[in-house]
Formats: sequence, structure tokens, C-alpha cells
Amino acid sequence: MALLPITLIGDKILRRKTKQVSEVDMETVELIKNMFQTMRNANGIGLAANQVGADKSIIICDLSGVEEYKKLKPMVFINSEIIYRSEEKIIMEEGCLSIPDVRCEIERPRQIVLKYSDTDMKEHEIEASDLLARVIQHEFDHTNGKLFTDLIDQIQKKLLKKPLNRIRSRQLEVDYPVTVDSDYRL
Ligand code: ZN
Repeated sequence: MALLPITLIGDKILRRKTKQVSEVDMETVELIKNMFQTMRNANGIGLAANQVGADKSIIICDLSGVEEYKKLKPMVFINSEIIYRSEEKIIMEEGCLSIPDVRCEIERPRQIVLKYSDTDMKEHEIEASDLLARVIQHEFDHTNGKLFTDLIDQIQKKLLKKPLNRIRSRQLEVDYPVTVDSDYRL
């Protein structure tokens, strides 16, 4: 296993829709293992493959460190698609390993249903609400080239301009490995 550098806002691969996975080969299995190690090392609870520079529709999450979710096993979602979003929305604070030290309150649907394939390429649907739905929606956005900073209002965008530019130009201390240039790809 290996720690992979995490891509930062400004890195091109974070803005592209990721490719569908057609088979889970040895390389993909290795990637998923490395994603878990990389996410845990950075104290994250969710990660998308393009956050480590891989152009694949893969999301992982692990909420077992959160008290109410401690019995929930780590999850891998391949080729995921949100097929239901509740009308009820809630506001929660979000952060992102690709946007270090920035947190914003974001409104999203409280419940979703996600269609995905597991590592045997078997299709499933999972109903999720609250924090789990939140993490899945955030990571699902990553696989479509979107970041949570796309969802904030103009005033917040103005306030974040400087901090985001500092991240883009890597003028900040991050306590986990990050990419050194914006063209990084695995
Ligand atoms: Zn993120």
C-alpha cells in the first residue's frame, strides 16, 4: 500500500467528469486500497478517485470514526449515480481534503438513493440520509468535476478568493501529501 498525494483545487483532474469503470482489475484493487490509506492518513471520511489523480468513477467512505455511525463498514461505490434526492434539504458544514482548512455551510437534500456497483461489479442501491447522504453527495460531485465551493453564494465566494488562491499556489502548510503541480494524474 502507498500514500498518494491528494489533488488540490486548481488541479485539472478535479474539474473533469471521471471515466466509468468497466472491470475491477488488480490495478483498481490496489488503487482502492491506496485510497483508503490516503484518506485515513488525512483524517478524511470520504474520497473520490480523482482526488488522488485517478480518472475513474470510484468513491470511498468510512464513517466508522463518527459515534452514530461506528457500526457502519467502510464502503466503496463504483460508477455511482444518484437516482433520488429528497425535497427536504438540510444545511451542514462541509470540508474537503482538496480544499484544506476551508469549511462552508452547504445546503443539500437530506436523503438520497444511490445506484452503484460494488468491487465485483454487482449493481446495488443504497438509501442514505443525513451525514452519510452528505458525504456521498459531496463525493459524487467530485466524480462529476464539481466542488462544494461551486455551491456557495457570491459573498462567500468573494471571501474565499484569497484562501483558495493560496491553496492553488500551494502557499499553505498541509499535514498530508498533496500534489505539487496542477497536471498531476496517476
Ligand atoms: Zn471533497
